[in-house]
Amino acid sequence: MFMSATVSTSLPHIVVVGAGFAGLNFCKTFPTDRARITVIDRQNHHLFQPLLYQVATAGLSAVDIAQPIRAILNDKPNLEVIMAEVTGFDLTAKKVRVGGDGEIAFEYLVLGLGGVTSYFGHDEWAQFAPGLKSLDDALKIRRKILLAFEHAETETDELRRKELMTIVVIGGGPTGVELAGAFAELTRTVLEKDFDRIDPTKARVLLIEGSPRVLNSFPADLSASAQRQLERMGVEVRTGIHVSAIRDGELEIPGETIRAANIIWGAGVSAQPLTRALGVELDRAGRVKILPDLSVPGHPEVFALGDMTALTDRNDRVVPGLSPAALQMGAHAAQTIADEIAFGKRAPVDRAAYAYRDKGSMATIGRSKAVAMIGKLHFSGFPAWLAWLAVHLIFLVGFRNKISVLLQWTYSYLTYKRGARVITGVSGDGPAHSA
Ligand SMILES: Cc1cc2nc3c(=O)[nH]c(=O)nc-3n(C[C@H](O)[C@H](O)[C@H](O)COP(=O)(O)OP(=O)(O)OC[C@H]3O[C@@H](n4cnc5c(N)ncnc54)[C@H](O)[C@@H]3O)c2cc1C
Repeated sequence: MFMSATVSTSLPHIVVVGAGFAGLNFCKTFPTDRARITVIDRQNHHLFQPLLYQVATAGLSAVDIAQPIRAILNDKPNLEVIMAEVTGFDLTAKKVRVGGDGEIAFEYLVLGLGGVTSYFGHDEWAQFAPGLKSLDDALKIRRKILLAFEHAETETDELRRKELMTIVVIGGGPTGVELAGAFAELTRTVLEKDFDRIDPTKARVLLIEGSPRVLNSFPADLSASAQRQLERMGVEVRTGIHVSAIRDGELEIPGETIRAANIIWGAGVSAQPLTRALGVELDRAGRVKILPDLSVPGHPEVFALGDMTALTDRNDRVVPGLSPAALQMGAHAAQTIADEIAFGKRAPVDRAAYAYRDKGSMATIGRSKAVAMIGKLHFSGFPAWLAWLAVHLIFLVGFRNKISVLLQWTYSYLTYKRGARVITGVSGDGPAHSA
């Protein structure tokens, strides 16, 4: 079962679960003459998550930020792609369980399962405040917001119209800041000309953050700059405020109930629940506590990478849940396994330990607005936005590998592609109505 005829069976078999940043970069950097690789992902596409907020806010179309995994890896010999869900592991028998009753045996297992939206123990909030982790999430958010404005256009009740034109983003980390800024841009500059009876520039965009400042993983000066840039765009930023309840069309904060047809959750991430099936130690967010060589304790032939892991690297640095870390870990594990197949097995303590190479942090707030930290340099506004754009374009070149697609994406991004505002899948979803 699940065996392709096109791969050589005399080579050691590596099973890679997840074609996100970590899994995909493992496949791209592994010398495929040393092993045969089976890549399993439950989606048929690799997703460029850093631009998901652009799809959610109608700046880009879904196809601009996703590409079929087969298309990315089709030039790799000895590699097959299977679209399926991995449902469990038997690490002793060296097998992964696939779907209901499938099994695939491995000599090496590489896991890059990523994370899921976490509601900090309030999973019931998910139905009222969608998170942003997949293309489906982004399209759901986009549809809901565009529908809300369509309904506001014909709504005669003033209060209800205001609710329909209120967008609340919960969580002032990079995702929340990017979303709030992009919603402000969408309402102030893009939708402005689309409607006759309502004035989208009067839409209320609120960003609520529990800690005292937005972007709290950035230095204080950049947090303050991000808040100023958001406020200048018309975003109401409320910090030090914890949401205590979310219901259909409303949320509660201390002393106030806010009615809003559009509530988006950008506050928390945890590891895929499947990490529990590994039977190894996890941290509070369900991430696997891996060894410095990126292997899973007690299983030197099993590697876990990217967002599903918790690791302090060989320089005593906590490895962040960011795409550069996932990419680097993919390349590191590929080197380790390739060396071992060529030169013989080693114990995890004798393998090279991973060190995170920090390329800086940035968060974009709008077109020409951002904050960036590269080494000791802090900058904000247009120069930071240019740096952000350059980094994302470089990523995209590697990701899509076609300069024509890159140009098309740049054009769409700079001109607010209208196609991204087409509402689909309305039947069954109903209006963004709550009252
Ligand atoms: C909205 C958003 C914005 C972000 N912005 C930035 C940013 O600006 N800069 C930055 O550096 N990072 C950003 N990140 C974080 C970055 O995207 C992650 O760090 C990175 O994607 C982690 O890579 P990964 O390979 O660990 O997991 P992922 O990229 O999440 O890939 C996991 C893969 O595993 C597959 N999978 C999961 N479970 C199973 C299963 N049971 N069976 C089969 N397949 C499975 C999934 O389908 C997916 O393809 C952002 C993340 C989000 C959600």
